[in-house]
Amino acid sequence: MAGRLKNFMNKAKLVRSLKMRIFVLLFLAGMIPAMIMRIGMIGNYEEHAVGVRTSDVTNQAQILANHLINYNYLQIPTSEVINAEIEQFSDLYDGRVLIIDKSYKVIKDAYGISEGKIIISKEIMQSFQGKTISNYDRDNHYIEVAVPIAEEDFYEEDLMEEEGGELSKIKGVLLISISTENIVITGDTLSRKADILEITMGIVIIGFALWLANILIRPIDRVTDAINEVKGGFTDEIIEVSDYLETEHIIEAFNQVISRMRILDKSREEFVSNVSHELKTPMTSMKVLADSILMQDDAPIELYKEFMEDITNEIERENKIISDLLSLVKMDKTAADLNIESVNVNELMELILKRLTPIAKREDIELIFESMRQVVAQVDEVKITLALTNLIENAIKYNKKHGWVKVTLDADHQFFTVEVTDSGIGIPEELLEHIYERFFRVDKSHSREIGGTGLGLAITRNAILMHRGSVKATSVEGEGTTFTAKIPLSHLS
Ligand code: ADP
Repeated sequence: MAGRLKNFMNKAKLVRSLKMRIFVLLFLAGMIPAMIMRIGMIGNYEEHAVGVRTSDVTNQAQILANHLINYNYLQIPTSEVINAEIEQFSDLYDGRVLIIDKSYKVIKDAYGISEGKIIISKEIMQSFQGKTISNYDRDNHYIEVAVPIAEEDFYEEDLMEEEGGELSKIKGVLLISISTENIVITGDTLSRKADILEITMGIVIIGFALWLANILIRPIDRVTDAINEVKGGFTDEIIEVSDYLETEHIIEAFNQVISRMRILDKSREEFVSNVSHELKTPMTSMKVLADSILMQDDAPIELYKEFMEDITNEIERENKIISDLLSLVKMDKTAADLNIESVNVNELMELILKRLTPIAKREDIELIFESMRQVVAQVDEVKITLALTNLIENAIKYNKKHGWVKVTLDADHQFFTVEVTDSGIGIPEELLEHIYERFFRVDKSHSREIGGTGLGLAITRNAILMHRGSVKATSVEGEGTTFTAKIPLSHLS
């Protein structure tokens, strides 16, 4: 059973093989014209040769019939000239010549067998009616021709109009049967030769088709080989196989995929090393703090307290990084993982702002909320809350003392927009494109001081992209920054 299945699979593979298909096409393209030519030429040969021979014999028979009348052979069948002519005719066409008179009696037989006998046949009767008859007996290989022997001014065409008068001019019938054996033999020989030629051609065409199919397929094999070589690991190598335009396109697409994979691989490596580094920093600080306390034999209790406070801060930091990382991992999933529900965005915004008020108060920053209209949207509440909280929190964190943050909510028929403008420190223009990168911070030490992880904007951007929205920032250094998030009102899955 398994063996049969394997056999079937192999056969299916062969049918699907391009090489096999090219081979079959080339073979057919070579063989079909050869076969058509053979059928056309050999098949028609016999018919054609018999036709030529029949009309030739009929013409000669008509000439002979005229001579018979001229020499009055039917009355006196002894003319040497005619006898010689009949003999010559018989030799030339390898056939039998019979001369039959009006009483259906054979007065001359070139073979001398039937002389004096009475012969009545359909052909002879028809010939006495003035018709020239010719038959080809394919099975017995002979042509029979019956020609009326009539006076010279006899016209076959006139028979219809004036039967009695013309028929009386028919004095007898010349019956000739000639062998077509040689035509059949020639036909057979030709057919045999054609068979040999066809088999030889078949072999040559098979060889040629195999050779050509191999050559035509080679570039595709080269592409597979080249891809297999690179498949092992994404080396820096860019492959090149430029035989066909099509293979060139495949390779181009493959190289693009490879370079994209390389970029992804590199960014993954970078991310892992960044994560390790970020997680290690608080650990190192804690170790330094603990070590320095341990080195002092008689450290006062106040110093212990101070160092323990610092250690707690570092633990908090570590915690924040880990929870941000977990949020980011959640955001890396596809839109299918969204938990969509109808959310009143005005209420949501007020809740977020209320939660952030204590932080804003600490720095004496004024929080202004302006809502242009009531907005209800289909979103994942948790993720959108996280995204917008990060934007507003940043606007507070990277602000100046006594500054302000203005949040505006608006919507059209398709999207709602949340604009967060601050009076803060701003972001240098050339760094704007990097702020969404994981662990990117404009000023590392400042960000650390205020508890930043460099993951907030990456989380915001991923959350908004999952909702098929967009986020963009404009900023003037020293004056402030505006972030605009644009999110579809209804979710299309
Ligand atoms: P962080 O946790 O450091 O705040 P984010 O990903 O939220 O990380 O932001 C990345 C960096 O972008 C910040 O470190 C900061 O330098 C800059 N940034 C973000 N928001 C603002 C803003 N409103 N004003 C000035 N700089 C900002």
